[in-house]
Amino acid sequence: MVKDTKYYDLLGVSPSASDTELKKAYRKAALKYHPDKNPSPEAAEKFKDLSSAYEVLSDEQKREIYDTYGVEGLQGGGPGGMGGMGADDIFSQFFGGGSFGGMGGASRGPQRGRDIKHSISCSLEELYKGRVAKLALNKTILCKGCEGRGGKLGKIKKCSSCNGQGVKFVTRQMGPMIQRFQTTCDVCQGSGDICDAKDRCTDCKGKKTQTERKILQVNIDPGMKDGQRIVFSGEGDQEPDITPGDVVFVVDEKPHEKFTRKGNDLYYEAEVDLLTSLAGGEIAFKHVSGDYIKITILPGEVIAPNALKVIENQGMPIYRQGGRGNMFIKFSVKFPANGFAGEDKLKLLEQVLPARTKAVIPKGAEVDECDLVDVDPYKHNSQSRRDAHDSDDEEGGAGGPGVQCASQ
Ligand SMILES: [Zn+2]
Ligand SMILES: [Zn+2]
Repeated sequence: MVKDTKYYDLLGVSPSASDTELKKAYRKAALKYHPDKNPSPEAAEKFKDLSSAYEVLSDEQKREIYDTYGVEGLQGGGPGGMGGMGADDIFSQFFGGGSFGGMGGASRGPQRGRDIKHSISCSLEELYKGRVAKLALNKTILCKGCEGRGGKLGKIKKCSSCNGQGVKFVTRQMGPMIQRFQTTCDVCQGSGDICDAKDRCTDCKGKKTQTERKILQVNIDPGMKDGQRIVFSGEGDQEPDITPGDVVFVVDEKPHEKFTRKGNDLYYEAEVDLLTSLAGGEIAFKHVSGDYIKITILPGEVIAPNALKVIENQGMPIYRQGGRGNMFIKFSVKFPANGFAGEDKLKLLEQVLPARTKAVIPKGAEVDECDLVDVDPYKHNSQSRRDAHDSDDEEGGAGGPGVQCASQ
């Protein structure tokens, strides 16, 4: 249970929404209420609210605090605190960068760096068995030569032109979007400091940071779900005077060809032939575990079309709890194609199958004798049904293999 759903309500999502859902909801709403699209003051207010909601919910740590303590928890100066980013910062971060942004160094004020998010695509088989993914990450770290100072101790002054940031921001409008670009400060050439050339760090040329390639080992545990986050705390980019953010991997479950997953349960659609459905037989299919599931349908059990059955404990592993969900099987029955020819065979069926159900028509009722025709998606489209209705009646299903109404 979350303490307060206000932020979720603003974005129109449920508290269990995945990152992807949040993103979609924010994108849709932000485009609608962005001051460029909608100049009314109410829209501006709404845009600000949306952005605050998104800023919190899109951040693993803040979302957790919000879910547990509500807005008050965030105002208490928790990690990162509130108000680090303005609505426009979030907007440009969202629409300016790639689909998983979070890079860039707009570290204006906040003490905590941004989280870096990566989606990690997993098949159901992988989520069943678990796997270890090794992912290379190019990250920015503090220069090892000068410990992030940029030059010799005591010989560095802060650049006043960029307030020590090394970058300045430029806003540019591109169509309906506002993009914020950062440019290197021309006074300090991006170092953020004024320092004599002879005192500069030779490793980073005064930039204070270096790029390092790091391999992260991501453990996908059995039973993990779509949208689940794997957090590497503090593994985000390092910059002087900020606490690095996290690197967050988000499980992205690939759709499976045969199975559908709902929570810990698996759903499978099995087709049985008519004879098996009536007289029993066997079906077999491959489980995401790699094993084969074999089911014996007992003679006389009768599997009706759309029957839903369950095999207990053959679903997905339950994350960190042990045990497994269930596997639901929805049956379809394959009837003989193109009819069932042979009068002698039909006679046999009449002998073994339960008797026909008689059509019931009250005495004295008006009876329309009708023909069935195959459905033609163009002709029988609900939009055009009204227009086609009259002519349908007259043609009487011409062309189709007419089947008599059961009412005779
Ligand atoms: Zn500067
Ligand atoms: Zn250095």
